[in-house]
Amino acid sequence: QSKRVKKPDWLRVKLPIGENYKKVREVVDKNKLNTICQSGNCPNMGECWGEGTATFMILGNVCTRSCTFCAVATGRPPEYDIAEPERVADAIKTMGVKHAVITSVNRDELKDKGAQVWYDTVIKTKELSPNTTIETLIPDTKGNWEALYKMISGGQEVVSHNMETVERLYRPVRPQAKYARSLEQIRRTKEYGKRTKTGMMLGLGEKKEEVLEAMEHLVENGCDILTLGQYLQPTKMHHEVIEFVHPDMFALYKEEGLKLGLKYVESGPLVRSSYHSERHVNV
Ligand code: SF4
Ligand code: SF4
Repeated sequence: QSKRVKKPDWLRVKLPIGENYKKVREVVDKNKLNTICQSGNCPNMGECWGEGTATFMILGNVCTRSCTFCAVATGRPPEYDIAEPERVADAIKTMGVKHAVITSVNRDELKDKGAQVWYDTVIKTKELSPNTTIETLIPDTKGNWEALYKMISGGQEVVSHNMETVERLYRPVRPQAKYARSLEQIRRTKEYGKRTKTGMMLGLGEKKEEVLEAMEHLVENGCDILTLGQYLQPTKMHHEVIEFVHPDMFALYKEEGLKLGLKYVESGPLVRSSYHSERHVNV
């Protein structure tokens, strides 16, 4: 019998429902889009949507993987929708988004891992909103580097790929992913010439040395930007919160990460990989 740990005060946020928030919701619904803000039940929706920004999730809302922290449904996804890139681009234009963050589910069953749809989405968005900067938070392509290069060649400013946790916890947390493969993907993205970024969740049972080691690996593999945030359990069926990491600890990780050579570290309990991401474009 596991006991649920009480949420500390620093994780309590209000959800202001203002005009902007409503407008974002309307555009998202009208264009039949998925957002990770909603799917992930993100605590920052009030703030981000209130500022007219959201993280779009493409390639449907059913994922071929089953990470134990994630609220997105697992299964065999239906055929993807070739009109989706157009609708995402349209929503970004209508919302007047200055910096767009786009992510997707994993589509391991597709030969190209969804690379074409990714490419089309970035190209279309740039076509309709040439001044909008784009961060793509991409899945791992299972070592299909052709697919990776296609995915990152549309002209996006930042390419993010989340490590999510430390090496030891991959099996219980991301059973279909591989730590070394994700690092290699980041290295190849950097070599391709992109600004690289990754995110990790804390509170899954990782130890301090393991976090520091992961940061070292990230530097060795050319990662520029790191975000660290508190893991929150979406439902009782998901991985337990092992610890609510204190804000001071987040501050310490930031300091250590910068010392190790990361260019930018955003670290705090409410930090999500897409949180304040407009700041990462010029890092
Ligand atoms: Fe959406 Fe990211 Fe903001 Fe959360 S932090 S509301 S996922 S844009
Ligand atoms: Fe969720 Fe991504 Fe894992 Fe799929 S691959 S279950 S969307 S975290």
